[in-house]
Order: sequence, then C-alpha cells, then structure tokens
Amino acid sequence: MRKLGNLILGVEPKLRARVGMTLLAMWGYVACTGLLIYLVQIGMVPPRTAMPLVAFMWTGVPVFYVLVRTGLSRRLGSPGMDLPQCLFAMASILIAYVIIGPERNTVLLLIALVMVFGMITLTPRQVRIMGICTLACLGAAMVWLALHEPGRVDARVEIIKFVLAACTLPVISAVATHVAKLRTRLLDQKHELKHALSMLHEVATRDELTGLHNRRHMMQLMEQQTKRQLRSGEGFCLALIDLDHFKQVNDHFGHQVGDLVLKTFAQTIGKELRQTDVLARWGGEEFLLMLTAPDPGLEGAQASLARFQAALRQVVIGNGVRITFSAGLTEHPPGEPLHETLERADRGLYKAKEQGRNRVEWVRVATTDQSHVSRSPGTPLAQDDQV
Ligand code: GH3
Ligand code: MG
Ligand code: MG
Repeated sequence: MRKLGNLILGVEPKLRARVGMTLLAMWGYVACTGLLIYLVQIGMVPPRTAMPLVAFMWTGVPVFYVLVRTGLSRRLGSPGMDLPQCLFAMASILIAYVIIGPERNTVLLLIALVMVFGMITLTPRQVRIMGICTLACLGAAMVWLALHEPGRVDARVEIIKFVLAACTLPVISAVATHVAKLRTRLLDQKHELKHALSMLHEVATRDELTGLHNRRHMMQLMEQQTKRQLRSGEGFCLALIDLDHFKQVNDHFGHQVGDLVLKTFAQTIGKELRQTDVLARWGGEEFLLMLTAPDPGLEGAQASLARFQAALRQVVIGNGVRITFSAGLTEHPPGEPLHETLERADRGLYKAKEQGRNRVEWVRVATTDQSHVSRSPGTPLAQDDQV
C-alpha cells in the first residue's frame, strides 16, 4: 500500500501535498461526471451535449496530474498548477451551465466551491484574477444563452442571476483574498521563524570568530560519538591543539592580527579535515579535534596532524606571522568517560609544550593501572618535521 501511495503521490512531502490537492480536485470531476451521466440517463441532457464536456474535463485532469506529479509544473513556474487548475474548473462549470438546461442554476454552487479551493491554494492576486475572469465569463455565457436559446432561456432571469452573481462573487473573492493574504503572512512568518531558528542554532553551536563548532556543541558531538562507538566498537581519537606563543602575536601585532591568526588556522585546517573529522574551538587559542571513522588509530590521527602542520607551514599572515601548534593526542576506548580522555589529551599537550612546542605527543590508554606518555616515534626529529 505504501509503495502504491509513493507511486501515485511521490515521496517528497511538498510534492505529495500538491499531488494530493490535484487528486482532490479529480474527485470533484469524478462526481460531476457521474451526475452528467445520470442527467443523460434521465433524459435531461442529450448525450451529444454531455460527451464534449466529459471529454474536455478528462483531457485536462490527467494533464494536470502528470504535470504536477512529474515536477514539470515546477519548470512552468507553478508547482501546484493552482491558478490553471482553478481556471480550468471554472471553465468546466461555465460550459456545464450553458449545456445543462433548466437545472443549470445548481451548477452555480460549484463556483463557490472552486473559490474556496482557491483560498487555500492561490495568492491574493490570483484569487482576484479568478474572481474577475469568472464573473466576465459567466456574463458572457448568460448573454450567449439569451441570444441563442431565446425560447428556453428568459433573458430577464439571466440578468437577475448575473446581478446576484455580480454581488456575491466579489464578496466571496474578497473573503478568499483575505484568507489568501493570511496564508501568505503565515507562510512568511514560518520562513522567518525557520531562519531565526537556524540563526539560533548557529549561535548556539558555532564559534563566532572562527565559524568552528563551539565547546558546548563539541561536547554533544563527542557524546553522540561515544554512543555510536558503543554500538559499532570503532574507536576515535581526540587531539587537544594549542597555538604556540600566541600571546606574543597579540603583544607584537595586536589583537586584530591575533584574531586573524585564529581564523586562518581554522580555515587552513578546515580544508585538510576529512568529512568524518570534527574541529572545534575549545577556548582561546585551543582547539579540539575529533578523528572518527574509519577508525583512524593513533598512527592515522598522527598522520592527519602532520598534514595540518604541513599545510600551516605554507601560511604566512601579515608581516611574517607563522602558525605552529602543539597537540596532545589520545584514543578514546569504548565506555571510557570523556573527561578521562580529555585529561589524557591535556597531559599530552602539556608534554608537547614542555618538549619545545610545534609537536604532537600521544598518550596511550593505560594497559595496566598506569597510563604512560610516549613521544612520537623516530625521535629526535628536526623541529620542522616534528609531529
Ligand atoms: P604557549 O605556546 O605556551 O601556548 O603560549 P601562548 O602564548 O600561546 O599561551 P598563553 O596561554 O600564555 O596565551 C594565550 C593568549 O591567547 C592569551 C589570550 O589573550 C589570547 N587569546 C585568547 N582568546 C583570544 C581571541 O579570541 N583573540 C585573540 N586575539 N587572542 C586571544
Ligand atoms: Mg593556551
Ligand atoms: Mg598557546
């Protein structure tokens, strides 16, 4: 059943709503066709008069369905084909009004139905266009009837009906316009609210200066990752990164250059990040990097950090400011409280600073009751090549 529903309506929610409205209108045409057949059977409408109207309706209805369902209507600038559908319905009603005979007055009720349909689908301007078109065409149909069927149609009664329609239709049209305006306003407010919510989300999760995730959001991301890790068993690594001698940059070049250094750092590393890795501003000139699936292992994480260092070596800011960082790197074993992993990364960072900066120290998870700090393999390394 769901597959059939998807086939008929489509999958995308907005498309489903549009196709749903088109099918609702189609249901109206089914009812009208049934009534026409009944009128033919009881001899009130001759078949040769009814058949062209049925053919007219059932040529238009599938065309609208196909246009909306396939999305072609979007290319035509009207995704729901709302105004064309309303005008088509009005045309069908007016044709029915002309051909049905003495019972034609009942058909006029359907005009109100289409106007209500217009209230929930059209813009205020479109509702006005539809009201004016309907009144003009109704007047033309009445004149045509009075001229072509003078024996069966009383022109005076047609005038009375037209005056009544001329009084009623603008009122319906005005109400429909009002409702359409309310709808438009509601839609605008919904968009504004959506925009405000995304701004709020941005403010709550991003660091304003660098555009990176902020500390609070990073905590959430890490907690999510630990839960995922419990299911998948895949580990992840954390690297606490701190810019070297950053205070000197501020002192020598000013805060603005300091800010520029932070931004440049974020941009440079951002370009080097894999999609699965996350970088956050942890505070001041400290950053936290989470390296996730596929399980990087300490060596993989180390290779990433070496890539960041290489990228930063190419960067010179203002009057020769270069960026280097020190980092403490560690793994997060499944089930370990996050603060313990962070504390290990912090120890690694402290060690990296102590060892002379511009380097990465990795701290293994304790296999016995004591964890140990181990330096990058291949020590001693040249300062530039240190990882
Ligand atoms: P180390 O190599 O030991 O890390 O030395 P450091 O100078 O980088 O470290 P320290 O902690 O002494 O200095 C950090 C400085 O970062 C101090 C603070 O004024 C500056 N800072 C923190 N946040 C910002 C910021 O948003 N913009 C700027 N321009 N400076 C900041
Ligand atoms: Mg610091
Ligand atoms: Mg620092």
